[in-house]
Amino acid sequence: MAYNEMFKATEIFPRTWQITYAFADFGGYPKMNPVFCYLLDGDEYALVIDTMYGYGNLRAFCETLTDKPMKVVNTHFHGDHIGGNYHFDVAYIHWRDLPYFYGKNNPMPGPGFPKTQEAIFERAKSHALPEYADKLDINDFKAPEPMEVYTIEDGDIFDLGDRQIEVIWVGGHSPGCIALLDRKNRCAFTGDCCNSNTLCSGANALPVEEYLENLLHFWTFRDEIDITYGGHQVLPPRVIEEGIELCGRILAGTDDKVEAESFGRKTIYGAARVPGKLEMVGGKVFNIAYDPKRLHKEPKRPQKI
Ligand SMILES: [Zn+2]
Repeated sequence: MAYNEMFKATEIFPRTWQITYAFADFGGYPKMNPVFCYLLDGDEYALVIDTMYGYGNLRAFCETLTDKPMKVVNTHFHGDHIGGNYHFDVAYIHWRDLPYFYGKNNPMPGPGFPKTQEAIFERAKSHALPEYADKLDINDFKAPEPMEVYTIEDGDIFDLGDRQIEVIWVGGHSPGCIALLDRKNRCAFTGDCCNSNTLCSGANALPVEEYLENLLHFWTFRDEIDITYGGHQVLPPRVIEEGIELCGRILAGTDDKVEAESFGRKTIYGAARVPGKLEMVGGKVFNIAYDPKRLHKEPKRPQKI
């Protein structure tokens, strides 16, 4: 299948595209959310923010939109954000997520994500719309393999020449979750930092108290953000403020405490949803799944290795 049939790009700002799979349907909440990545073209190079599941050849598709060399930055290490990395030459990720990125005993893209070319291909077929299922070509799929990865941290700048994109650390959903601030277009690319289903109950997530500190840091950029482009949703910036408020309620013990299941594990959501919908009761857009045993930060002590 031609690359422009597998992917769909929407130009959200000049030389800035939101990309998703055109051939697949994930069903939406509560089944599976859609997935997005972003291409920001610059004078010096183009920045690819996340690479989704690795279905098809994202690099070849991006090359239909830009003739510049490309660098990948991952908002965090999860398999629905790094799956397509392996077609590219170089990726950047926050240092706190690096240990999970790729390792012999912890092969990415993480538990529950396929790791071989065949398995990725089969999974893509299971997500494909009926008219596309037989058109996929296994040669467009690439298994995870070691690649050149550099670490980044809060405050780092991707200088694309005519535009600068700043790294904001918003650890919580994963230890090294980041948002990327595009000042020129007054938006932030947020990965899974904060959305209507912010999963912070997994083994690698940070305690609610630490996540709250990072949301407060993110909120200091509020006057520069009119919209957030996430890995699964596009939301108004009030999602950050609502996150701060809800984490505060969780720490005070006054949240809605809705029991639910996430990836086969029992979890608690801080806010009640409108039944069957992604939206929350009262019109709010933020929600968080958290582990009631991991609310507070661990006291800082020297690490034993
Ligand atoms: Zn994630």
